[in-house]
Amino acid sequence: MIPMPVASTNQLRVGVEKYPLLQLHFHAPSEHTLKGKAFPLEIHFVNAADNGKLAVVGVLVKEGATNAEFQKILDNAPLLEGTNTPPDMLVFPWRLLPADRTHFYNYAGSLTTPPCTEGVGWHVLSQPIEVSQTQITQFEALYNDNARHTQALMVVL
Ligand SMILES: [Zn+2]
Repeated sequence: MIPMPVASTNQLRVGVEKYPLLQLHFHAPSEHTLKGKAFPLEIHFVNAADNGKLAVVGVLVKEGATNAEFQKILDNAPLLEGTNTPPDMLVFPWRLLPADRTHFYNYAGSLTTPPCTEGVGWHVLSQPIEVSQTQITQFEALYNDNARHTQALMVVL
């Protein structure tokens, strides 16, 4: 799906490194699994440091309460590929983050869409957020099956 533009004041801090938020986008179903379990949706917050280094925060989404911020995105989602979201729509990224932002899975990976650039720092939060089943259905009607299939775990000895 088309990445949502976000205000440049949002950023991820990893230690002393700062990664301003570039864009966020969604996948259905999730690209990451927890204990082998996939989630209906996953949000990727793509952040880039001044030196070009990328860090992505992954937020898993499960069925539960309605999320007002996600509804705003759904209501403004472009219906045609290649069209942009209305420029006056302001997304507040932190409203799409779980309360617990201190527990996450961290690994060095790649972008999951072409060109699948490597050297990307992944931070997948262990606490999912909730959106309603109606919202999941609404999203799937717009964009379905846009997730990269899970990759085999690789162990380097
Ligand atoms: Zn993604």
